[in-house]
Amino acid sequence: MFLYFVVFAAALMIVLWVLQVFLLNNFYGTMKTQQTKEVAREIETAFKHNNTDRFLKNVAEISESYDMYIYVVSYDGKTTYYQPSANDVAQAPEFELAEPEEKEMQYISQIQTLNEHMMKGNGSAYVKIEGADSQDILAYGSVLTAKNKEPMIVYIFSPLWPVSSTIKILTNQLIFVTLISIIVACLLSLYLSFRITRPLRKINESAKDLAAGKYGIVFQGGHYTELVNLADTLTGASIELEKSDMLQKDLIANVSHDLKTPLTMIRSYAEMIRDLSGDNPKKRNEHLQVIIDEADRLNVLVNDMLEISRLQSGKLALEKAEFNLTHAIESILHTYRIMEEEDGYTFDFQCDTDYYVDADEEKIKQVVTNLLTNAIKFCGGDKTVIVTLKKRGRNVECRVEDHGPGIPADELDRIWERYYRSSSNMKREKEGTGLGLSICKEILTQHKAKFGTDSTVGEGSQFWFELEYVRAEKRK
Ligand code: ADP
Repeated sequence: MFLYFVVFAAALMIVLWVLQVFLLNNFYGTMKTQQTKEVAREIETAFKHNNTDRFLKNVAEISESYDMYIYVVSYDGKTTYYQPSANDVAQAPEFELAEPEEKEMQYISQIQTLNEHMMKGNGSAYVKIEGADSQDILAYGSVLTAKNKEPMIVYIFSPLWPVSSTIKILTNQLIFVTLISIIVACLLSLYLSFRITRPLRKINESAKDLAAGKYGIVFQGGHYTELVNLADTLTGASIELEKSDMLQKDLIANVSHDLKTPLTMIRSYAEMIRDLSGDNPKKRNEHLQVIIDEADRLNVLVNDMLEISRLQSGKLALEKAEFNLTHAIESILHTYRIMEEEDGYTFDFQCDTDYYVDADEEKIKQVVTNLLTNAIKFCGGDKTVIVTLKKRGRNVECRVEDHGPGIPADELDRIWERYYRSSSNMKREKEGTGLGLSICKEILTQHKAKFGTDSTVGEGSQFWFELEYVRAEKRK
């Protein structure tokens, strides 16, 4: 950045130098030629319209107002009508003309050359005379003619060297300007690069820390919006990384704990069969049943874990389609009906309309199944589970209700998290995988559906979710 700034300043200076110093010369030359032409025209008109006295006065005026030397001589060159020093006019500023007399001599010495050019050029000619020390002169000569008048010759000399002295001044000035602007550019670029690169360096340091596994880093962005955004994004990334790292550690801790219990049980019961109950068919069957149950539990756990990791990887796209939610819930309840007869449960489904929703049918069925399994697990003394389906605003709400122990208010949010089990439900026979609700949460979040829990300790719980309503048909 520093380098770019300096190069930029230098380029600007070069442009300035070229424009000022080199082009000024040409510009001044063109301007002078133009001016000389104008003066010549004025003199010619004055000669045509005035008598000699009046004309010479005009010449004196013109010569005063322009920085030029004008000579008027008779056609034969013998009489001089007008000469600057003799007529005491056209005193050029001192710095331009150190020795006017000598300069005048120089002009007069050029008259011969000018005359030659005039003869070739039909009575008038422009000549640029190269002087010593690059003190060039623009010379113009013309024969003045008018009716009933003796012709005269006018010579106009315009010194071109003021431009070289101007250029000298400019050059000196430009050296200062260049020095100052390069110093300013250096300072400014140092300051700016400091303001931009320091935050970048800091971000880099922090990123290195992050790469080394240090979490909770807050990236500092400095003063520029883009850098602040970058820093914010990186801070966000670091938070996400930390979360996923924690989840991973959590997962390993929970999984190893959950796998360990059934495995220990299986091992100890297998040992018991080998050492004690192998010959006692009754005991042996009992112990084998425990092993089978534990193996089943392991199976469920592994399946749930696979399911949630598949869901969370986000690779499983939803297969949304319109389906009859009422019918889907009924078919799930149907598989539980056997428990009504065998175990005295009551499953009450309250809905008299076929509600159609646009969702992934299999996944929503899984949500309902998980909620039902929990309600059955925690159904309380009356062994009743109530499922209601009704329209709520633009959505259809499904509610699963039990009259069990309920959930303390401070745990309501946490039960949807992975591996969370309510403090009051830690009994082994009710132990699940702790993944059921988080699978529901994952599926419902993917559907952008609202969901939640209403519960009063001692009275029961209601788990609900809402899906976007498509249409409804009255049941026959
Ligand atoms: P689990 O397999 O342990 O049931 P879940 O994710 O399905 O895992 O549930 C998490 C926890 O939420 C349960 O352990 C339980 O403490 C609580 N919970 C879920 N459903 C109910 C319910 N209907 N009544 C009371 N507590 C419940």
